[in-house]
Order: sequence, then C-alpha cells, then structure tokens
Amino acid sequence: MAAQQAPCVLVVEDEGAQREVLRYNLEAEGFRVAMAENGDEALLLVAEEKPDLIVLDWMLPNVSGIEICRRVKANPDTRNIPIIMLSARSEENDRVRGLETGADDYVVKPYSVVELMARLRTQLRRTRPAAMGERLVFEDIILDSAEHRVYRDGQQLHLGPTEFRLLSTMMEKPGRVWTREQLLDRVWGRDIYVDTRTIDVHVGRLRKALMAKGGSDPVRTVRGTGYSLG
Ligand code: CA
Repeated sequence: MAAQQAPCVLVVEDEGAQREVLRYNLEAEGFRVAMAENGDEALLLVAEEKPDLIVLDWMLPNVSGIEICRRVKANPDTRNIPIIMLSARSEENDRVRGLETGADDYVVKPYSVVELMARLRTQLRRTRPAAMGERLVFEDIILDSAEHRVYRDGQQLHLGPTEFRLLSTMMEKPGRVWTREQLLDRVWGRDIYVDTRTIDVHVGRLRKALMAKGGSDPVRTVRGTGYSLG
C-alpha cells in the first residue's frame, strides 16, 4: 500500500473486545485505524479524520448506527465514504432498512473477520483503487500500483516516489479537482509539514515526467483551487 497514504478505516463499535479484534486485523493488513465507541465520537472523527471507510455497529448508545449512517450519507462532504453496517439483527427488513439508509454493505453478527475484511477490500478497491494495488488507466497512461510502474503510450516512464503518489491519487478520480490541501493529506499525510509551494514543484516534476516521451500535458491547473487530471 505504499502507493499513497494507507486508507483509514473508522471502526464505530461500543464493545471494546470487538473494537480491538477489528483494530488488530485492520492494522495487520496495513490500514490506518481510527476508533469510536459512540455516535458523537464517530461523527467527530468522520469530520476530523475523513476516513476512507466506516465499519459501523448498528446498536450503539445514544446515537444509533442507522442515524450516523443517515447523517454521513446526507452530507455532500462525506457521502462517498463507504459504510459497512454490523448488526446482530438478521431480519430481512433490517437488512433492507440498513441499505436504504445508504449503507454500502451489511454484515450480520457474529461475523467472520475474514469475510468482513474481504467486503471491506471490495469497497476500497472501488474508492481507493491505487492504494489497494489496482491497475489504473487514464487515456494513454497506465499506472500499475502493485508493480510501482507507469507507462504512457506503451513506454515506461520514470517517476520519483512523490510524483508516483501524486499521479496515483489523481488517477483514482480523473476530472476531480484536488485542492493543494487534499493532495497534501493524501500524498504526504497530514502529520508532516509541507509548504503548499512544494506541491506545485512536485506537480511540475510530474508533468515533465509524463511528457518525457511525448504526449500532451494531462494535468490541468485550476486557478485558485488546485489540479486535476483531465
Ligand atoms: Ca453494539
């Protein structure tokens, strides 16, 4: 998962032992983990950490899992975060209700950790393909995140590690305009201080590397905002 900052999974679960099992398994697979034991904490962490996926227990004190799911999916800033609901309820009605609230998947307790991890990877392959080792294609550019290679029009290009992370981030969502702050979070991680001008320098190097063997500049500068691919 070195292609970018590892995906962050938020676990919302009020039972400590269950939280620890999930943390252990998620960290063992290289994910970053945030944990909340109630709804208020969960909503705070969703806003602060912008997790890549939420594993959400249905039965929580105070704010229920269903309510958290509804709020996350109602907010344009967070609605694309995949949510896997955990529930002791196995009634078909509950399953339908969970999915209607906007949950992306639903797992009945007691669940197998192996199955939950498989479902989690399925969701992340869709939303964070480069971080999950998938091969990305944009026009004549191919990025093989497992092999750490980039090709354009069939020829291998040589990118520095930062430029590779930048490209893999932008190739996950062609056409999306990334602010410098968002690129900073994704490429460098928010714990590191990086001047925004440094980002411009690396985008410049990325452009140069992408055009080294011909072809036009695929990176678009959006004035006052940031950059997009295509
Ligand atoms: Ca619970």
